[in-house]
Amino acid sequence: MPHSTFSSDVIDWQKKHGRKNLPWQKNRNAYRVWVSEIMLQQTQVATVIPYYQRFMAVFPSLTELANAPQDQVLQLWTGLGYYARARNMHKTAQLLVAEQQGQWPQDLQALIDLPGIGRSTAGAILSLGMNKKGVILDGNVKRVLARYHCVEGWPDSSKTNKLLWGHAETYTPNRGSKTFNQGMMDLGASLCSKKAPQCSLCPLQQRCEAFATHSQEQFPHTKPKVKLPQKTTSMLMIIRNKNQVLLQQRPPQGIWGGLWGFPECDVQDQASIEEHCVSQLGVKVDVLSTWRPIKHTFSHFQLTISPIELSYKRSRNQISESSPSVWHHFNETPSFGVATPIKKILAKLSDGYPTN
Ligand code: SF4
Repeated sequence: MPHSTFSSDVIDWQKKHGRKNLPWQKNRNAYRVWVSEIMLQQTQVATVIPYYQRFMAVFPSLTELANAPQDQVLQLWTGLGYYARARNMHKTAQLLVAEQQGQWPQDLQALIDLPGIGRSTAGAILSLGMNKKGVILDGNVKRVLARYHCVEGWPDSSKTNKLLWGHAETYTPNRGSKTFNQGMMDLGASLCSKKAPQCSLCPLQQRCEAFATHSQEQFPHTKPKVKLPQKTTSMLMIIRNKNQVLLQQRPPQGIWGGLWGFPECDVQDQASIEEHCVSQLGVKVDVLSTWRPIKHTFSHFQLTISPIELSYKRSRNQISESSPSVWHHFNETPSFGVATPIKKILAKLSDGYPTN
């Protein structure tokens, strides 16, 4: 299929059948597109919508985001996961406000140079947010192109990724890339779905190689399976006055960086835990119980968490200040960011689940 036909078929289809009412499609600008693109990475549209709406209500522009404390940004991100996305957004907003008078750069490389902005997000900001030429290769676009050309290999492997970028560059028109990109994303999100694609309605059907060979569901290839490394940790729920629990802010780097959570230790027996609390946290405690372990999967490892319930007796001197800490009333919604497993444990504490 000539490139222009591919592009115009997608554009025509988008105008007739594409999505037009997603929250980030209203009052489009670079900022709104950027926030939606970052939230949509690894996350479904239906999950993102309420987060996006809350985020926009609090941070309607780069300036509000740049001026906010990181705790507030992470709090609004709680539950979306991949918190580096939120930290990078905050950094980018601060950088643009401090160094560019709150203006977005107008070219691809300058956008990619900003924290957390990859090639596809930069393409989305250019095309959808600025109405310039920009090329997108998100998960939906990858699926359409991988099927259309029966592209072998896992799309995120460097060889396959390069091939797919080549196709995306070829088909994206110089004029109208906004509607074309929206059309490709919409096709991938609707007709060219992971399971049971509706090829009979697809504008690309005539020359789609996967359709011709009945191999739609073989493309794109899935990620080669690797066994995730296993890690364990004990989370110490130190309860004071039956309604407060000690939380600490995690270091900015590493998993759940900047979020708040329980102090952790890698010992499990009662005497060692009590000793750890005295030596590392400066508090005397009694171990009450160990809850059933919780598993949490990250992209690169699986963590088994043993929540241990302890009752606070007294502070030796002062609670260790190696990390910022707070006695949090666990029946109140935190005003700072907490990771999903911590949120669940806090909810269980507040529901009166002293033991499991
Ligand atoms: S014809 Fe089917 S497999 Fe090919 S792009 Fe369209 S929906 Fe996807």
